[in-house]
This record gives sequence, structure tokens and C-alpha cells, in this order.
Amino acid sequence: MTSPPPKLDGKELLDRFRKYMRDRNLPLTQQRQAVASVLFFSDEHLSAEDIESALRDDGIRVGKATIYRTLDLLVRAALISEHDFGDGFKRYEPRGVTSHHEHLICLECGKVVEFSSERIERMNALIADEHGFRHHHHRLAIYGVCHECQDNAAVTLEAGSGRRGVKHE
Ligand SMILES: [Zn+2]
Ligand SMILES: [Zn+2]
Repeated sequence: MTSPPPKLDGKELLDRFRKYMRDRNLPLTQQRQAVASVLFFSDEHLSAEDIESALRDDGIRVGKATIYRTLDLLVRAALISEHDFGDGFKRYEPRGVTSHHEHLICLECGKVVEFSSERIERMNALIADEHGFRHHHHRLAIYGVCHECQDNAAVTLEAGSGRRGVKHE
């Protein structure tokens, strides 16, 4: 098994992004830096929409096309990871700031919770081994209903509005 990558902070990620662009003679515009910074200094799983509104809150106007192009670049530079949790859009998070982790996704409110488990890590390696694979990486997403949404559903039930169906993947 490989050891987890060293943790990086937002400033280090930004330095790496600058170097990546410089090495490839790509222009690092203020807008691209602004998009990258939103991600690098966040510990959430942001969509392109989230990034756009975070920038707008800071008074920075960046077009959707620039955001998508920058996200593409950052994924290729391995500075962010891209997730598709099946809710119709992609989400991004900085790489290296948090170590390897898995995700729980709430089907009601879309909240994403992170967890890591030594047992899951061991199990993945074992399963790969059983099938003659050398483990490279894995992704686990557990879909369900978060605590708050369960509480809200319970309140609705108590109010006598009948049973609510829970979506299954
Ligand atoms: Zn929820
Ligand atoms: Zn995550």
C-alpha cells in the first residue's frame, strides 16, 4: 500500500498552479487565479455554480466558460479532484489539502459528508488482490438520507402527512 500524499495548503496549491502554467507557457490570468483560489481555500465540494457565486460575492465577475476551462486545467494539473455524485452536475475539491477520503451523499438535500476508514482501505486492497489486481485507487460514495433530513421527515410524518418514500440508487 502507498502512504497518503503529503498535505498541502491553499497557498502551496496556488504556487503549484502558477508553476504548472509557467512550465507550459500558459497565461495565468487574474480570473483563472481567482477561480483556483476559491477551490484551493475551500474544504467543500463546490460546483461551477458555487464557484461563480462565491466570486460574485467577492465582486469578481468571471464567465462560465472561463470557470469551466480553469476547472479543466486544474483537473489535468491534478490539483483538484472532480466528482460526479449523480445529481446532474460535477463538484470539485482541492487535492492534497485533505487526505484520501470517501463520501456520503444525502439524496434529500445534496449534502456531502467525508469520512475515511482504515477498514475500507484494507478491504479494497484485499479485494483487488483476490482478483489479481494491483490496487491503484478507488472511489466510494454512499447514498442515503442525512440526519437533519431524517429529522425533517419525522416532523412531517408526525404532522400526519403520510409516509414519504426514500429514493434508492
Ligand atoms: Zn440531507
Ligand atoms: Zn471530498
